Order: sequence, then C-alpha cells, then structure tokens
Amino acid sequence: MHQSKLNIESIRAEFPVLHQQVNGKPLIYFDNAATTQKPKSVIHAIRHYYEFDNANIHRGIHTLAERATAAFEDTRVSVQQFINSREKEEIIFTKGTTESVNLVASSFAKAFIKAGDEIIISGMEHHSNIVPWQIVCEERGAVLKVIPVLDHGELDMEAYQKLLSAKTKMVACVYVSNALGTINPIKKIIEAAHSVGAKILVDGAQAVAHLDIDVQELDCDFFAFSAHKLYGPTGVGILYGKRELLDAMPPYQSGGEMIKEVRFEGTTYNEIPYKFEAGTPNIADVIGFKSAIDFINNIGKIHIRKYENELLEHCTNGLKNKVTLYGTALQKVAVCSFVIKGMHHFDAGMMLDAKGIAVRTGHHCTQPLMERFGIEGTVRASFAIYNTKEEIDVFLEAVEKLVK
Ligand code: PLP
Repeated sequence: MHQSKLNIESIRAEFPVLHQQVNGKPLIYFDNAATTQKPKSVIHAIRHYYEFDNANIHRGIHTLAERATAAFEDTRVSVQQFINSREKEEIIFTKGTTESVNLVASSFAKAFIKAGDEIIISGMEHHSNIVPWQIVCEERGAVLKVIPVLDHGELDMEAYQKLLSAKTKMVACVYVSNALGTINPIKKIIEAAHSVGAKILVDGAQAVAHLDIDVQELDCDFFAFSAHKLYGPTGVGILYGKRELLDAMPPYQSGGEMIKEVRFEGTTYNEIPYKFEAGTPNIADVIGFKSAIDFINNIGKIHIRKYENELLEHCTNGLKNKVTLYGTALQKVAVCSFVIKGMHHFDAGMMLDAKGIAVRTGHHCTQPLMERFGIEGTVRASFAIYNTKEEIDVFLEAVEKLVK
C-alpha cells in the first residue's frame, strides 16, 4: 500500500486534546463524524477575539467593532472561496447544518411549496434532513417521497428517476452518509432533479471535510454544512444558496440585522445574506472557523482524502472477517460502521471507552436507515487527518477481543 507523505506527527501536535489519557490509556479519538477536534490555530483565534477585539458587529463605528466586523466578514470570503460560490452574499451563517436545512425548509416552502407538490429525500438522510421536510409536508399538504437504499448502502438511482416528476419541487439529499460513509453520486442526483424543474438542497455535513466542494460546478441550489465537522468550532453552520432563490425567499427569523427599515406600519428587509442573519451571530466562533479552513487548505483536501483512504482500507481489512460491516459502497469516506454478533453496540462502545477508544454507537440520527437494515444501531469508527494506522491496530485488537 502506498504510504502517505504527510507528517502526521506534526499534524497531531496541533491538536492539544489528543494528548491525554482516558481511563488510563492514550486517547484514540474515532468519533470524527460526530465532531472533529480543533487545532491550536482555531482555539487561538477564538481566544484572540475575546482578548482583543470583542464587540458587536456591523453596527458599531468604533475600532473594536470595525475589527470584529472585518474578521467576521473575512470568514465569509474564506467560505466563499472554500466552496467556490459566485458571490460572498450567497454564504449565510447559521448555527449548523440543522439550522441551515430548517431555514431552507421553512422559507423555501413558504415561497414555493403548495398542496400536492412533492419533496424527495433519500433513505439515508440524517434526521435533520428528514424532520424539517416532514413538517413542511404536514403544514403545506405536500407529499414526501423517499429514495430507497440498496444492500451495499448505495442509493437506488433507478428508483430515484421514477420518483421524479413535474410535481417534484425539492430534492433534499445527503452527499456523504454519516452512518455508512457512502459518497452519493450527487452530481447525477442534482442533474436529475433539475431535469424536472425541481430545486435541490445538498446536505454536505459529512462531505466538506473529505471532498473538494465546488457549488458552481455541482450546480446545487442549496448546500448546508457545519464548521465543527471540519476542525472548526461548534455553533457555526453554513448555508449556501443561489442568489436568485435567496432573494425570492422570505426571512426565516426576524429581529435586528435582517431589516432595512422598521416602522409600525411595516418593515422592509435587508439584502442577502443579512436578511437571513437575524440577531447577534456567533461572532467568535465564525472568526475561529476561518482558521479551520486555513488548516485544511494548508494540508490540501487531496492529501487528506488520500491519507484517510489508507486508514479506511486498513481498518476495513482488519474488520472484514470479524464483524458485520454496514456500508460497503465502492465510493466511501473513512467511516466503518459495524455490528459485533451477539453484542449490543452500547456494550461494545463502553468496553472500547474503557480502553481509551472513543467511537460512536447507536442509530447515528438515521433511524429509518437502521430500520432498512433491520438493526437498532451500529458501532461507528470514523477517521480524521490526525488518526494513525497504529491507533487502528490498537482498535482492531480491542474489537478482536470483544468478538471472542
Ligand atoms: N447531516 C449529516 C449527514 C450529519 O452527519 C449531521 C451531524 O451529524 C447533521 C446533518 C447535523 O449537523 P449539526 O448537528 O451540526 O447541525
């Protein structure tokens, strides 16, 4: 196997949290699909903001307010470049993927969904890309359709084609499954949605840390993700949307910042992105997020992907004949989801924790997907750039003991 040239030791040195003992053992952190750890640069940027620049943004004319505003808006430009949106105004800050999806579901539906319209989601969606659409359907009398999942954890693209019709107004689909690791053929899914005149929201929560994202090339209408899954702070999300749609959609929340002029007789709304950014945002963490993007750019997604693929291959080979793996698609990110015969996933998770190994256990907020496979949940090990093959070897040995 080709060995990656990255200096993983020096990358690990950037992550203070990794250098500790848990239950008397060196921490092995394999819960990266839930949230990644944060490099020093992100922690320092947040600390620097509170120590030197803390002020509310956009409205102040004093120096601190100007510095805070400039740093906040710098992150918007970084995100614009990171996902290659046409304009920085198409980047809206939210508190996470969940809020980004809720924003679109609520606001897009008010503008464009009526009784009898159809919304398509997939059978491998995270709950945060299911429930908002169920609510839209209940409120507006629309109909929810679901793309089935095949045995290897891939979407049934033929069935998807058959679900599409002139009634389809929105397709909301995950790019990379958090529970299985499957990389969906999102470009084809987007093209098919557009061929019947539907709009498409891509849940990119698990994709952005591993794959190059170019929203213009993808031609998606909306793209949602969370900073905390790509080495950034919690409480920051991104919604990318095409200008013409964002301009046509009503505000999601109301209050300060999203207005142009308020009179008791009526209010006019601000331009995008501010129309969708009511109230004081999470300034410090948005500023910290820029350092996370810089961290990723400095390594390069192509190198990250290559290295993580080596980790995936190593772990999959080690697990293959010992456990039942769920999610064996050809195109995958570094996620191993599995069940140990005769052992509840929670017990497995607790026993691994006793050895300092952090994995996720349960339904991973994808209950319908678990039901599809006839299971309650899995043990999930998900890898990031700071993980090593040596850590995987310790993990495989621990799993082997559990199997026995
Ligand atoms: N979508 C996917 C695919 C996810 O993996 C997650 C989080 O695990 C979410 C949405 C929700 O993200 P957040 O909790 O950051 O809003």
